[in-house]
Amino acid sequence: MLDMTIDYKALPRWIKPAMAARDVATFNGQLRVGEFARLADLLVNPVDDLVDVTLNCGFDAQGRQVINCQVTGVVHMICQRCMQPCPVVLDTQTALSPVVDDEAALGLPGDYEPVVLVGDQIDVREMVEDEILLSLPIAALHEDHCQK
Ligand SMILES: [Zn+2]
Repeated sequence: MLDMTIDYKALPRWIKPAMAARDVATFNGQLRVGEFARLADLLVNPVDDLVDVTLNCGFDAQGRQVINCQVTGVVHMICQRCMQPCPVVLDTQTALSPVVDDEAALGLPGDYEPVVLVGDQIDVREMVEDEILLSLPIAALHEDHCQK
């Protein structure tokens, strides 16, 4: 029997950042755009778009846990001129640091973004979804010509 599933390298759903930092762990894999509930209103997903995610974990010079999160791929939004799907290139790189709550997030240096812990773990899908939300344009337009 043929396996029709797309070749897809899964990321762990949860990581323990303290352990990952100690191990200087790297996670590399893909997420399906269709898995992101909060992006469902913003994105159209005509071809089951995948994003590539790389997480490099470790400590900074101050001993703070850091997750360098890179998200790349092509997603689709509705073009505001022709109302057809329009490709949007994602290429984000963000230094994230795990915090216990929003108050702790205020203590982070400005070049870090907080990611709130759930117990001692981080929800990788939620974290990547936040990164994509922050990087999407307010409105998408086809760059050159709209399709007829
Ligand atoms: Zn268009």
